[in-house]
Amino acid sequence: MNPLFIDTHCHLDGEEFDQDRAEVMQRARKAGCKAIFLPAIDLASSQRILTLCQQYPDYLRPMVGLHPEEVRADWREQLEGIRNLLPAFASLPEQEHSIAIGEVGLDFYWSREFEKEQLEAFEMQVQWSVEAQLPLMIHCRKAQNELVAILRKYARELPGGVFHCFTGNEQEARQLLEFPRFVLGIGGVFTFKKSHLPQVLPAAVPLDRIVLETDAPYMAPVPMRGQRNEPAYIRHVISRMAEAYGVSEEDVCQQTNTNVERVFGVKL
Ligand SMILES: [Zn+2]
Repeated sequence: MNPLFIDTHCHLDGEEFDQDRAEVMQRARKAGCKAIFLPAIDLASSQRILTLCQQYPDYLRPMVGLHPEEVRADWREQLEGIRNLLPAFASLPEQEHSIAIGEVGLDFYWSREFEKEQLEAFEMQVQWSVEAQLPLMIHCRKAQNELVAILRKYARELPGGVFHCFTGNEQEARQLLEFPRFVLGIGGVFTFKKSHLPQVLPAAVPLDRIVLETDAPYMAPVPMRGQRNEPAYIRHVISRMAEAYGVSEEDVCQQTNTNVERVFGVKL
């Protein structure tokens, strides 16, 4: 039997999965995926994800948050709406509670039009993380210095989180791992032919600081590269990672599952 793993970052609420969401989950279970965490990108997706996760409380776990690329002129209203969702969790069974604030962060790759707003929106959500003691699911592109500067202000009180879709170098990895309760989210990029991650990670990142993710529908691993990604494909990342670290696939799964339970404070 395949060793069990967890997909900590999957946009399963996206319209890409409208036609076959149940089958995607079925394939995930068959491949050994024992839980899927769903990051939100804005108010509408936060609401959609809560509803979806209530339908599969034994398998899906929701997050709420405003993605940096969704920070636009209406960001304050978006944040207020998302903030209002948080207290509602108090009345729900524990497995339906939001598992993290995410995905949040900074993205200056495409545009710096809302740079100031992105910085402010991120910092507010970092404060929610501290208040609610919910971990952060962090997206960062072309903005690590700015991101680290904000996180350092709250370093002592932060409950932890994931630097999702890490693709940096050793130095960048070490800088992020200075936040002791944080881990790196690793997915399909690890399998790409030109990826330097199979060298960078074993050199700078112990396995107890990694969690697995798809970022589906994006970032499908080799040999599915370019197709729609889905949780079952994490198997390809696991086998490549076991090779790079010189351990068994069971070791990769066991260690990353332990990391998920520690960072998210759940028992799965
Ligand atoms: Zn994402």
